[in-house]
Amino acid sequence: MRRLPVFLVLDLSESMIGDDHRRLQEGMTDLISTLKTDPQALETVYLSVIGFAGQARTLVPLVELPSFFTPRLPVGSGTSLGRAMTHLMDQIDVQVRKTTTEQKGDWKPIVYLMTDGKPTDDIDAAVERWNKGYASRVQLIAVGIGRYASLDTLRRFTESVLTFTNGGDQDFKKFIRWISQSVSVQSRSVGMSGAAELPLATFDESFLKKMEHAASQIAQDEDFAIVRGTCAKSKLPYLMKYERAPAHIRTQHIAFEIAPYSLSGVFPVEKDYVEWSESNAIEGSINSDQLMGSPGCPHCGNPIGFAMCNCGAIMCLSGPGSATCPVCNKEGHYGYSEGPGFDVTRARG
Ligand SMILES: [Zn+2]
Ligand SMILES: [Zn+2]
Repeated sequence: MRRLPVFLVLDLSESMIGDDHRRLQEGMTDLISTLKTDPQALETVYLSVIGFAGQARTLVPLVELPSFFTPRLPVGSGTSLGRAMTHLMDQIDVQVRKTTTEQKGDWKPIVYLMTDGKPTDDIDAAVERWNKGYASRVQLIAVGIGRYASLDTLRRFTESVLTFTNGGDQDFKKFIRWISQSVSVQSRSVGMSGAAELPLATFDESFLKKMEHAASQIAQDEDFAIVRGTCAKSKLPYLMKYERAPAHIRTQHIAFEIAPYSLSGVFPVEKDYVEWSESNAIEGSINSDQLMGSPGCPHCGNPIGFAMCNCGAIMCLSGPGSATCPVCNKEGHYGYSEGPGFDVTRARG
């Protein structure tokens, strides 16, 4: 039996933190259990999962469905699409069997690439390598998740670009179902037609659309900010997500609009966050005056999650007084500040 290699390349950047990350994690489990009920897919599909944030790594190497276990999806800082595509091409070279005089090789590999942002690394070399050596022998379906995904960038790799409008849990479930149906359809169609590209399952345009024109997207600035903190007790990182909340200020004399960011959630992340993040990342900064709301620490329960050490690190505190910074290990004295805000580094999606 010839294998049908399917690669899922997933954006695990911190802009996904919160609901999208949870949905993706749950979706992976659903996808696998659905595919395992399809006899044709069970026989032919071999699945691999590649994750990328600042770094790109294989989470699951190409494996037959019955042996597939859903990996825990990590989170990191950055959206290194160039690295992800380079890693994918290296994996295709190593893992996909070529037809030789002795053996019949694998079917044409299928890649589902999902991303919610703009690349933070240089993609030119990856685009060139892909179009020269892979575009014609690998079927790539790229899906931009949400309104900040750079569809124009995805178009440089494939004509097959879809955009997923994320309306919540139900839409995400439909989206995952569409992927599993597409893989099922593909596993049945393989070898039966002379068509170069295998068909995708039909979809409901309320949540998924095919991009027909390259210039149909207006570039948008992200309207959220993510600030990274470190737990003073466990030294584990956590992410505070702020969303832009336009507000009107109206007094007797003046009326103007301000656009501060207000806290939408705080999320603990695992130790491997650092390994998945870009090293030497140049990060944007945002003034703390722009950020409304301060959460507690999701790791240790300290009530203050937003204290800043002189070294620039954000850490958790049990209250005013002296505390040791988990990043630089220096002791400092902390009180409440009433003065002007300070600049904090803003992590990159
Ligand atoms: Zn803590
Ligand atoms: Zn420090």
